[in-house]
Order: sequence, then structure tokens, then C-alpha cells
Amino acid sequence: MAEQFNLRGSGMTSQRARDRLAVSLQEKGIENAAVLNAIRNTPRHIFIDEALAHGAYENNALPIGYNQTISQPYIVARMTELLLADKPLQKVLEVGTGSGYQTAILAQLVGKVYSVERIKPLQDRAAIRLDALSIKNIHLKHTDGGMGLDTYAPFDAILVTAAPDEVPVELVEQLAVNGTMVIPVGGSNGQTLKVIKKKTAQQIDTQIVEAVNFVPLLSGVIS
Ligand code: SAH
Repeated sequence: MAEQFNLRGSGMTSQRARDRLAVSLQEKGIENAAVLNAIRNTPRHIFIDEALAHGAYENNALPIGYNQTISQPYIVARMTELLLADKPLQKVLEVGTGSGYQTAILAQLVGKVYSVERIKPLQDRAAIRLDALSIKNIHLKHTDGGMGLDTYAPFDAILVTAAPDEVPVELVEQLAVNGTMVIPVGGSNGQTLKVIKKKTAQQIDTQIVEAVNFVPLLSGVIS
């Protein structure tokens, strides 16, 4: 399967481009060395259309079809760093697989990633790319992730890559005690990135990190 992708890249998609991206993310404030290392190791150009691949290592969101986007590298790195801040993570839920790039980064840093996507063709493409990178510690599922993934709960951490208007209670319920959720929240009036820590079964701490701009969390599935 790997033969269909130029995993190493060349020119605008070379290792030098990945190294430069990691340096620029560090300059923007990303501190976690393991996260920066994962950025250096992951060929983002295979997660987007070939016609757009030359821009893969700039700090931009890019279209991936079906009105969805691959998140900016900065935001991927930032969310991952926030998720990993407290402790090593075994079980992580990602809502919104999209291109699979964030899944690939996470999978290098945690025990296992359960990633759900509501649009089947996007999930299928992500699966091919993650397979090409020989990433095995993932479980992809085609489902509406707004209700979480009850069968595999609780999760040490939850990362949501599409924005609901409010934090879904099901996701809070499926977070383990001492767990962390990183989630963009808000509608057309603006979104903020929130870090939610579950202190006890009843007590939740919420921190607002920064303004963000994600596609909306939608309900239902597309086959
Ligand atoms: N991390 C991805 C982000 C893709 S954009 C990347 O960097 O490529 C967000 C994704 O969330 C889209 O693919 C969208 O289809 C998906 N999504 C939106 N609502 C969802 C839901 N309720 N359940 C699962 N996936 C959802």
C-alpha cells in the first residue's frame, strides 16, 4: 500500500520542509519536544490532495473534500500538547478523523487512539494513509461522535476536532476521572478552544485557551 505515496517527499514536501515547520511551531510557542518530533516525523503532504501538497508544510488549514479541512499544523500541535500536559495517556478518543493527520500525530504519543468520523469516504481515505505509515495502534469507526464512543469508554483523554455549540455531556461522561478533554466550542459568534479536566466524577474544571476556527460538529452520518 505504501508505494502509492511518496512518504519521504521531495522539494516542498521534503524532510527539510518538515524540520522547518517544527521550528516555526516552536517559535509560535509549542514546547513539547515529543509533539515537535512527531511533526518532524509525519508526512503531512500525504494527507492532502496532490495538487495542494506543495503547501503541506505551511501553517494553513487546507480543504480535504466534503466541505471539511485538515487543521492547521499549529492547532494540531497545540491541542496535542494540551492533551498530553498532565500524564502519559493510554486510551484516547478523537472525534473527527478527517484526513487522519491528527490521528497519526496522536498515535505516536499515546497508547491507542479511537478515532470516529461521520463521513465514510473521508474515513476510508484516512485509513489508507494511516496504513501506509504502518500506524497500528488506532481503531477507526464510522459513526456520529457527538455522543462519544460508549463501548470503549472511559477515555484518558478526548480530543474533538469539530466545534459543537456546547460541550456534549456524553463526552464529559466518557472521560475518566483525572482525564482531559480538548474541544473547540461555539457557533457563528466565535469559537474558543477549551481544556476540560475531570477532577472527580462530579467536578469539572474548564480553561479557555484561545480563539479558534473549526468546522461545526454535525449530527448523523454520511455513507
Ligand atoms: N483532525 C482532522 C480535522 C478534520 S475537520 C484533520 O486535521 O484532518 C473535522 C472533522 O470532523 C471532519 O472530517 C468532519 O466530518 C468531522 N465531524 C464533524 N462532526 C462529527 C461528528 N458528529 N462525529 C464524527 N465526526 C464529525
